[in-house]
Amino acid sequence: MAKLSPLLKQATPVLAERGEGVYLYDADDRRYLDFTAGIGVTSTGHCHPRVVEAAQKQVATLVHGQYTTVMHRPLLRLTEALGEVLPAGLDSLFFLNSGSEAVEAAIRLARHATGRQNIVVFQGSFHGRTMGAAALTTAGTKFRAGIGPLMPGVAVAPFPQSYRYGWDEAEATRFALRELDYLLATASSPRDTAAFVVEPVLGEGGYIPAPPGFLEGLRERADRHGILLVVDEVQTGFGRTGRFWGHEHAGARPDVLISAKGLASGFPLSAIAAPAALMERGWPGSQGGTYGGNAVACAAALATLEVIRDEDLVAAADRLGARLGDGLRKVAADHPVIGDVRGLGLMRASEFTTPGGEPDAATAARAQQAAAGHGLLLLTCGAFGNVVRMIPPLVVSEPQIDDALALWSAAVADAAA
Ligand code: PMP
Repeated sequence: MAKLSPLLKQATPVLAERGEGVYLYDADDRRYLDFTAGIGVTSTGHCHPRVVEAAQKQVATLVHGQYTTVMHRPLLRLTEALGEVLPAGLDSLFFLNSGSEAVEAAIRLARHATGRQNIVVFQGSFHGRTMGAAALTTAGTKFRAGIGPLMPGVAVAPFPQSYRYGWDEAEATRFALRELDYLLATASSPRDTAAFVVEPVLGEGGYIPAPPGFLEGLRERADRHGILLVVDEVQTGFGRTGRFWGHEHAGARPDVLISAKGLASGFPLSAIAAPAALMERGWPGSQGGTYGGNAVACAAALATLEVIRDEDLVAAADRLGARLGDGLRKVAADHPVIGDVRGLGLMRASEFTTPGGEPDAATAARAQQAAAGHGLLLLTCGAFGNVVRMIPPLVVSEPQIDDALALWSAAVADAAA
């Protein structure tokens, strides 16, 4: 009898039989508040009726058009619909399946478009597990150890992590930008540098929002040196941070935007967007894949965009995120094991530290496990594994936020005991 590989590491022991809105149900019909949303994917909730209907209809019409062979309408319609929500000028789209694949596509595009090789990334970032994306990933050595040599041509600059440095955000930002200038002067010449690849909020790296001025500083340097600013919105896109795109919290426009996760409510779909003039510097056939832009995934994405618009989910993420943030700060005030609470919109986290301010992964893990025991599903993140994050579906209600906070408070009390 075949068994699942032990390579799979699961955050909870739950066997999910079905999902509805913000809830998952196990085989005994025990209900869990799902504040993981499938790692920030099911923003419209589990099995939103409009997404289900769109997917069911498409399954019965055309499942696999295969976009390098034939074109199909869901892909054309989705392209048009994304045009309404993408930043002005990013009017050319290419579709793939996963965040990692879209990151790979962005690397290819940046190298093709600039004729330069190097990619500068920011320490603590996560961009995926495929070999190119892994080379860009510094969210923890667990994503890199033992698989090298990784793709060359990657330089790592600091990300302004004010809590870890013990500095204020302005000071951390000044430091990070000064170090970037130093990197460009010493290690990765602008003449060789194709792109900066950055997350608007470090995701797997610990839910650390880019402080004011950081993305603007990257934009200014990108313009000065002809370097592309590639923004990885895989986790921050589609309303997650209380703006449609995470980078909208800053006054900086990307040259290339990478999206996935929240795009299709759980169907595998990702996209890169860039100005047509930039895409034209690649060439037809230089990107692709068997399953990219799958028709059912595109139909689900179209319905997802409609739900986000019709249910005003971006504003909801902003409003409910503020409530979640306030509640998390109250829990932290009662429990000194939590050293920092941060995040934007419905992308919030609590960082566990020892009395000496060192990362405390053991207490974070106990809190995450205790929460699951209380019926609240959560994930950890951060390079040291000491951050517990909350990423509920954007359709979450105020009472559900309050329920989650009550369960969280109990879980932290259990963990700290
Ligand atoms: N970029 C970011 C910012 C992510 O958060 C992730 C996934 N956590 C990825 C890329 C990779 O996406 P995928 O797992 O779909 O390959």
